Amino acid sequence: MTANLIDGKEIAKTTRSRIKEDVEQLIEQGTIPSLTVILIGDDPASHSYVKGKERACEQAGITSVVKRHPESFTEAELVEEIRTLNEDSSVHGILVQLPLPKHIDETVVLDEISPHKDVDGFHPENVGQLLSGGEGFVPCTPLGIIEMLKLTGIEIEGKHAVIVGRSNLVGKPVGQLLLNENATVTYCHSKTKDLYKHTLDADILIAAVGRPQMIGVEGIKPGACVIDVGVNRVDGKLIGDVQFDETKEIAGWITPVPGGVGPMTITMLLHNTVLAAKRLGRCNDRS
Ligand code: NDP
Repeated sequence: MTANLIDGKEIAKTTRSRIKEDVEQLIEQGTIPSLTVILIGDDPASHSYVKGKERACEQAGITSVVKRHPESFTEAELVEEIRTLNEDSSVHGILVQLPLPKHIDETVVLDEISPHKDVDGFHPENVGQLLSGGEGFVPCTPLGIIEMLKLTGIEIEGKHAVIVGRSNLVGKPVGQLLLNENATVTYCHSKTKDLYKHTLDADILIAAVGRPQMIGVEGIKPGACVIDVGVNRVDGKLIGDVQFDETKEIAGWITPVPGGVGPMTITMLLHNTVLAAKRLGRCNDRS
């Protein structure tokens, strides 16, 4: 058996054209969806991610503003800027690019973003909404994974989903989303004993660790759907957390790295920005 490839690039392309239509409709109604990204310091990877976000916004017709600041920008200045953006009705989404310089407390900063403009879904109120199944914002990578599963037609209800990794960014929220979709969920992490005992029982396996090819084919249940979130740079090449070549021979479905989960992450940022514009528009209509 050879696995079906889940083509994240293609799914992202289709989803982005749907988002673009939504944007056009909003613009006709007088709202231009707008995202403000705050970028501090000179980290080349962060600059490159932000460029990608700007480009994607532009292609979708979303206004994007990037506020670039030197490494010396203080926590107080950042908090002040976020408060101003929270009050600005022309701004629908606010994103602070992580990681922040060491002198700035990430928790303090993320808590300042209005939950209604928190398109990264990191504010505690949105984390709570995700747990309770309420209407909040969901972090982009986990949301992209669920979209990808649904658009590929992979059944989630009743399936055993095993998540390797329990970060606030990927592992925990993706597990919660799968639970909300009625999967039975197991979380594994660095202290898990006998990892393969768990992964071998996974109908849906999500690998979100950040260790190149750490999950071998001997840890995969034949026919499973394997979602590889890992992005590891080895000898200038990007590779995932799963041994792709061997696993694709026995899995039912598999995402490649690159070209799997990655393209869906920015797509979901566009989705969340449009959602914020729609919701804030509804609030303004009521006031
Ligand atoms: P973190 O480093 O925050 O979390 C890694 C997780 O893996 C932790 O929960 C850790 O466990 C667990 N872990 C570490 N070693 C082992 C092990 N030997 N066995 C089992 N679990 C282990 O990473 P992120 O969640 O932020 O990211 C994970 C990967 O996904 C990275 O490669 C990152 O680059 C990629 N990524 C890709 C995105 C995309 O758009 N494609 C977006 C975001 C991330 P513990 O909690 O016990 O320490």
